[in-house]
Amino acid sequence: MLTDRFHRKIEYLRISVTDKCNLRCRYCMPEEGVDIKSHEQLLRWEEIYRMVQAFTKEGISKVRITGGEPLVRKGLLNFIERLNNIGLQDISITSNGILLSRMAADLKQAGINRINISLDSLNKERYAWITRGGDVNKVLKGIEAAFQAGLEPVKLNTVVVRGFNHDEVVDLALLSKDMPLHVRFIELMPVGTDSIWGKDSFVSTAETIDRLREVGELKPARVNGNGPAQVWQLPGCQGTVGFISAISNHFCAKCNRIRLTADGRIYPCLHSDNYLSCFESLRNGTDDEELKTIVHRAVALKPGHHHLGVQERMMNAIGG
Ligand code: SAM
Ligand code: SF4
Repeated sequence: MLTDRFHRKIEYLRISVTDKCNLRCRYCMPEEGVDIKSHEQLLRWEEIYRMVQAFTKEGISKVRITGGEPLVRKGLLNFIERLNNIGLQDISITSNGILLSRMAADLKQAGINRINISLDSLNKERYAWITRGGDVNKVLKGIEAAFQAGLEPVKLNTVVVRGFNHDEVVDLALLSKDMPLHVRFIELMPVGTDSIWGKDSFVSTAETIDRLREVGELKPARVNGNGPAQVWQLPGCQGTVGFISAISNHFCAKCNRIRLTADGRIYPCLHSDNYLSCFESLRNGTDDEELKTIVHRAVALKPGHHHLGVQERMMNAIGG
């Protein structure tokens, strides 16, 4: 079992397999994209695999693959297939859904259990604006494909931003009516020095809940793997609505996560620039004993709670 200095059980590893993305969401990435890292600066699949193996031996049981956009990195399906053989209980993925209509069935086949798809607006123009050029129809087709492939549960991640989509939360929540979709509203986080959002853009979970109450009574519900989200159901809906309140009600006391980035950094906390690099050790073909030490040193770095500020690295690099 892996526990940190504050007696929290660490069992959930989020892996950012690439910091590249086929979108440029305004709260996540600069317009020009990320510094192009050479292949040599990124962990190879084999190296990520070794690190996940080391984490799993010490107590990690759940892995989420994220990015950047994980579906853009070649070799992903093979990697997922291999992950199935190391005793993990759960392998999930977070994607912007753009490439999902053609990859959902393969992801399921490779061993993905469940998926989170990010979608901030149903309006074609708004979606294109926030993502700097994305096509919302591709995401909607991706959601359909995820259901058809049998991924379960399918969750939707929506970052709520005042002046952009706060008037759309009811429409987005009602996507849970005719399909068993779990729509989660995420509070905007002040991450990344280039982020264009000011304090005025922030919408609290309490405000989003108030808007949804206009539709009807919210009843408590449960969804598999709901992590830090509070989950509710609107009347007559198959799916649920959830709220991730990293700002207004932080969940540090229950935090069970640790993060590995594409360039081989282990971040013990999403909201801290403190990290431990495993890149050199992996590249030099270190032995399992040293990887075990790295796992424990990284977990020991986990802070008791986060200090929100503007971090140097943007979300695409850490994986959200
Ligand atoms: N590209 C994939 C996607 O968009 O789902 C995976 C990576 S993305 C960094 C993971 C999640 O982080 C997305 O749901 C995204 O909306 C969220 N995110 C990015 N920047 C954020 C911010 N500043 N505040 C809150 N959530 C953010
Ligand atoms: Fe890409 Fe996801 Fe960041 Fe949007 S939120 S720019 S889709 S990594």
